[in-house]
Amino acid sequence: MSQYQNQRPRNGRYGRPQFSSNRSSNRRQPKKAYIHPSRFIQSAKPVSASDFTPTNKFIDLELHPLIKGNLIKMGYSEPSPIQDQAIPLGLEGKDIVGIADTGTGKTAAFAVPLLNRLIMERNTQAIILAPTRELAQQIEEQCRHIAKGSGLDGALLIGGMAMGPQLRELRFNPRIIIGTPGRIKDHLERRSLILDQCNIVVLDEVDRMLDMGFVNDIREILSKTNQRKQSFYFSATLDNRVKAIIDTFSVNPIQISVKTGETSSNVEQNIVPFKSVSEKIGKLHDLLIQDAFAKTLVFDDTHHSVENLSKELSIRGFSTDSIHGGKSQSQRQQVLKRFKENHIKVLVATDVAARGLDVSDITHVINYSSPQTYEDYVHRIGRTGRAGKVGYALTFVESNS
Ligand code: AMP
Repeated sequence: MSQYQNQRPRNGRYGRPQFSSNRSSNRRQPKKAYIHPSRFIQSAKPVSASDFTPTNKFIDLELHPLIKGNLIKMGYSEPSPIQDQAIPLGLEGKDIVGIADTGTGKTAAFAVPLLNRLIMERNTQAIILAPTRELAQQIEEQCRHIAKGSGLDGALLIGGMAMGPQLRELRFNPRIIIGTPGRIKDHLERRSLILDQCNIVVLDEVDRMLDMGFVNDIREILSKTNQRKQSFYFSATLDNRVKAIIDTFSVNPIQISVKTGETSSNVEQNIVPFKSVSEKIGKLHDLLIQDAFAKTLVFDDTHHSVENLSKELSIRGFSTDSIHGGKSQSQRQQVLKRFKENHIKVLVATDVAARGLDVSDITHVINYSSPQTYEDYVHRIGRTGRAGKVGYALTFVESNS
């Protein structure tokens, strides 16, 4: 049975989740880096989509007609800047390093050439690694839309889900494997996954995967793939750790960059000073009752603090829920769905939600606790101000004066 053809996952495709918690997020948080509050204040300088004229049109690219048709159905009328550069090079079989902010359309930038190759060339198999389960799921969803009707078969291998359905999927020799490094390594160790023939590799959000400690897993997984392969690396930053991975597995990849600056230019950023805990919650309350805060993502540090804050806001009458690594995968999915579909207005989250989540219309991001690093800050606030809209980010800062 073909997953991409039917759009209906196999039995157990998103099978009953195990109620295991994400161990890493139970760990004590590392000490936070000091970030000067002035870095949380910045006026938005929105870049209008009309400022960009793509060199290519999807219709003119050498793409399988099925993919062209699906892109139109998805409402993709023309390529985004990263897609404009990456897709033609990807179709030529080049290795690509894409430096791109979140929300720039980077998923389709690698998924379109990759899926085109899978459809056109029989002896191809692809693997896509992503840092979080949510991001892996979103990538898989987009791939299914782009390749709908192609008959391609895929497997989603993420932690927090039962092994059984994944083992069943792997027995069909799927042409596209999408997942998180930990679970993919588990499958390699069990020999339920063999990657000798895998000749297209994508590492999405490489910097984030390295931050999460996946460096050895990534190296091991890549070393098991075919020697002759096309590779795509996408990362918000290109530091020495990221370069080291790329240098090991690629020769002279082409680097493209569409970074708009150190932080999202579409986000109006400011601070909220507070002196005491009671004043802090009061200030949050006063913000959230405003009509403008139509869909707000609030960040806090730990499972516990997120749960408590979410309960407190609920008691205060806000429609709210929480997402963190202590929730099962299916619970997280349900909460996200309710947030996407506007059944809840306030989502309280740990950094689990900070990367790659594609909820297009978040009006405000509130850092109720300050982020671990400025890098994390950039990713948190990148959840708003998407698709050419202006977003707002507010960071609570303790003031002694
Ligand atoms: P990404 O950065 O891949 O997470 O994409 C961000 C959002 O932009 C997603 O909702 C995509 O569906 C959407 N998107 C990506 N490429 C295009 C395009 N060429 N035209 C319109 N929307 C797009």
